[in-house]
Amino acid sequence: MMTTHEKTNEQPTHALSYYDNLTGLAHKRYYHERMSCLLKTAARRNEQFAFLFIDLDDFKDVNDRYGTQLGDQFLHAIAQRLKLVVREVDFIARLEGDQFCIILDNITDDHDVIKVINRCLQKIKKPLTIETHLLTPTASIGAAIYPRDGINESDLISAADFAMHQAKQAGKQGYVFYSKNKSNLATLRREKEYLLREAFKQNQFVLYYQPQLSMTNRQVVGVESLVRWQHPTLGIVAPDYFLDLVEQLELQTQLGNWAIKTACEQLANWHRSGLAFIPVAVNLSPSHFQDHLLIQTVKDTLQKTGIPAEFLELEVTESAMQTKGHIDVFKQLRKIGLKIAIDDFGTGFSCLASLKQLPLDCLKIDKIFIDDMLSNSHTALLLGTIIGLAHALDYSLVAEGVETEEQALKLQHLGCDIIQGYFFSKPLPADDIPSFIKKTLVDN
Ligand code: C2E
Ligand code: CA
Ligand code: CA
Repeated sequence: MMTTHEKTNEQPTHALSYYDNLTGLAHKRYYHERMSCLLKTAARRNEQFAFLFIDLDDFKDVNDRYGTQLGDQFLHAIAQRLKLVVREVDFIARLEGDQFCIILDNITDDHDVIKVINRCLQKIKKPLTIETHLLTPTASIGAAIYPRDGINESDLISAADFAMHQAKQAGKQGYVFYSKNKSNLATLRREKEYLLREAFKQNQFVLYYQPQLSMTNRQVVGVESLVRWQHPTLGIVAPDYFLDLVEQLELQTQLGNWAIKTACEQLANWHRSGLAFIPVAVNLSPSHFQDHLLIQTVKDTLQKTGIPAEFLELEVTESAMQTKGHIDVFKQLRKIGLKIAIDDFGTGFSCLASLKQLPLDCLKIDKIFIDDMLSNSHTALLLGTIIGLAHALDYSLVAEGVETEEQALKLQHLGCDIIQGYFFSKPLPADDIPSFIKKTLVDN
């Protein structure tokens, strides 16, 4: 991808430089030289080395949304992070656009390489504030080992490139080692698909519930339902493991309908056991809002379970909010009495100014703001603005992923009173919720 820097600075004096103007890393030209040198020494000394191909995830969105100038600053910042990860003897270069490579010289086994890769992924994914924007960079990495995966430059680079694409396909933000035995991957995927389809047939899903508490009185004001898979061999599995595949198999509507039904039935159960109704939130896939039957399904479920509509909240991502046809669906759902919340607020590309036109009730502030707000004054400032705006528009606010009292108090100070996160409780099995609620009533 072309960046502004490249467009404006393409002068002959730079053409001979070994270093990339934008990032200060080695240039692709230098990389070719270094590679051919390394191939010779490694062969002579009988050594291995690793070639890591790093590609940022969704960099195009950053450029499209914020412009190439900010995109350039983004690349520069990532390059500085990568420099901190490698040893002085290692080689790092910007290949082109948002692609980088690292060569780890003289390695003895894959574990050395995995350590560096994990350090890269951890460093890259720290939230990044540029101007007033909070960005969440992630990358996919493909690894190839000399001589195992190739003994010349082009074989090594295409092996690492292939592995990098597999990392993207596996859901990004991760790494894959090149493997000649590609059929292994295909078999694994077929197996997972089979087990997931069986999970639907045999009803192996279960909802956990994470309490949301008010800081003012430290009592439960609602719960968010989070799906788990009771996997036949792996045990309780979190959704990150299977949601991508659910989407690929187009089973998201089935999962969402099941979650609405299960959450409502659970609420009725708790109520029967003597608990007052509490609001319960259900996460829905953005594409579920294209289902023409959604509104009827919700109505039927509320009626069958006897749950008043205002106790059911649907969580949708910012991207679902931006899809034209969905707005009408949200309006109809709110008309029935349901609440609509924007999930992971701040990580998508919502324009703050457009918020006031949206049919919604609640903003859920994403964990990345919480992680960052105590150490980064820009983030705290941005958070203050979002909270102020939400109040002005009369939306309720929930901060997610709050892990410490310090974070909770800071949020309360900024005007966000409702807290969800490990600080108060992890997601709990349904049976543990009544005692949790009773305990908060006794404690306070
Ligand atoms: P989410 O909706 O943003 O849910 C919050 C995630 O953060 C949950 O992960 C929760 O366990 C975790 N979490 C909560 N508090 C903390 C904390 O203090 N620290 C940390 N580190 N993590 C915390 P989980 O349950 O693995 O769910 C992951 C994502 O899967 C959810 O993110 C949601 O997008 C999706 N998901 C969960 N349940 C459903 C569902 O029933 N349907 C659909 N379509 N998506 C679901
Ligand atoms: Ca959620
Ligand atoms: Ca969230």
